[in-house]
Amino acid sequence: MIVASLLLIIIDPRFTQHRVPTPSARDRIVPLRPSLVSSSFPDQPSCASRQQLPQWRSSSSSNSSNKSPASPYLLSRIRDYEQRHKRCDPHSESFLRNSQELLTRSKDLAPDCRYIVWVPVNGLGNRMLSLASSFVYALLTDRVLLVDFDDSMSGLFCEPFPDDATWLLPGDFTFKGRLGNLLEKSEKKHDEEIAVQATALLYLYLSGDNNYDMLFYRDDTQKLLTNVPWLVLRSDQHFVPYFFVMPGFRAELDRLFPDKEAVFQHVGRYLFSPTNRVWGRVARFYDTYLAKAEQRIGLQVRVFYPDKTPASLMLPHILRCMQVVSGILPRLQQNETSPTSSATRSRTLKAVLVASLLEEFYTELKDMYWMRPAADDAAVGVYQTSHEGWQETGNGAHNVKALVDIYLLSMCDVLVTSHFSTFGYVAHSLAGLRPWYLQNPGDYEAKRNEPACVRAVSPEPCFHFHPYYDTNSANHGDAAGGGPAPVIMNCEDYEWGFKLANLKY
Ligand code: GDP
Repeated sequence: MIVASLLLIIIDPRFTQHRVPTPSARDRIVPLRPSLVSSSFPDQPSCASRQQLPQWRSSSSSNSSNKSPASPYLLSRIRDYEQRHKRCDPHSESFLRNSQELLTRSKDLAPDCRYIVWVPVNGLGNRMLSLASSFVYALLTDRVLLVDFDDSMSGLFCEPFPDDATWLLPGDFTFKGRLGNLLEKSEKKHDEEIAVQATALLYLYLSGDNNYDMLFYRDDTQKLLTNVPWLVLRSDQHFVPYFFVMPGFRAELDRLFPDKEAVFQHVGRYLFSPTNRVWGRVARFYDTYLAKAEQRIGLQVRVFYPDKTPASLMLPHILRCMQVVSGILPRLQQNETSPTSSATRSRTLKAVLVASLLEEFYTELKDMYWMRPAADDAAVGVYQTSHEGWQETGNGAHNVKALVDIYLLSMCDVLVTSHFSTFGYVAHSLAGLRPWYLQNPGDYEAKRNEPACVRAVSPEPCFHFHPYYDTNSANHGDAAGGGPAPVIMNCEDYEWGFKLANLKY
């Protein structure tokens, strides 16, 4: 045993070259299985999460990667993608040529590389969803995904593609930092420069609230887009589900993702590896407060309208969800002073991670389970990493804390997340867990008879603002006509939205 450990230390530079701790649960032996992580990545001290997270996930019993491995076809398409990315990335000659052609407005473009450039908009959850959707689009259309990160995004994620390739749009790219403003300019139709570039560069603004979006989700439009070398995409939506109802994409998507409830899980885990700065905080917090618990419970409380839903309304709502509807947390004993018997020294230990911009949910829950014994005598520890007060999307340090919370939530065994929150969607989809969605308490009197939370059918994120699509009649129609299996359902927490699920009719 000692010899084996020593060998490990000598041959594995991760143990000597960096200081990101290895959470105890990840020390177990990992089964060998073809991996989403390319073998071309060296054991990277500069990005410890890339190796450590998959190891931790394979050893976690509640984690769904054990139940739904990536399909061999997805692995092979991702390996193809990585080669394309390397050939076309901003360090390559192809990129230089393609950028110059964009400037010279060449009419006879026969580009060897075609790009989709992602532009950030709104909060981190929204950003991760639309970025993952953009990557699926790049896989489907043989494009190369580049990102126009602002300062608030740098330092969150490692480079996702191997062989020293980069996905960062270079600082000297013609439209760098201005891509987010293209819409404004093109709407005014003043900007000559942009108008002339139109055939070489097309700006896709999928805002979700207008009928123009529908054009994007048509097979004939997609055919036209293959001729445009540069697509710039601005969206805060998880738009992948719509691709599954497009005949032109469906067959390929079925091969890539036989399990429709693990699409974001695979793509998100592949694309997003937190940097050491983020991962170090995640791993230290996990080891200190969560690792020893028998059950890790993640509670994410996103309060969109604090005036309408103050803590005094939210807290009883949360307790109704967690103690009554889902039974995730034990109720409290009436008697504050009931002693803990010696026989209960080996009580179940539950750790509750409270992720919220606000502090009060954490302090109230912590005090409750400290001051009174739980009915089943379980020991309940309540923890929080930060309470930032308000959203500050443009602030890099704030985003680091947000990403830490997202990853810690994704390492829990059970999740209660807030309805309509993309922050919560990313956490439960990365985990591959079906969360309980906290409903909006709204007017307490009016909603008294509605459940405080509902259990999700599928772990996939919701596509909130999409062009109209009748999920019911389309699914029934498909199934009845011998078409592809139904895979789209209305979201549990937001009826207008739709999401992917393994449905049976
Ligand atoms: P959504 O608005 O809930 O859909 O989620 P987004 O992630 O798109 O935007 C909310 C932003 O507020 C996050 O990106 C964070 O910047 C911040 N935020 C919201 N909830 C939390 C939380 O629980 N923890 C931390 N650290 N930040 C949060």
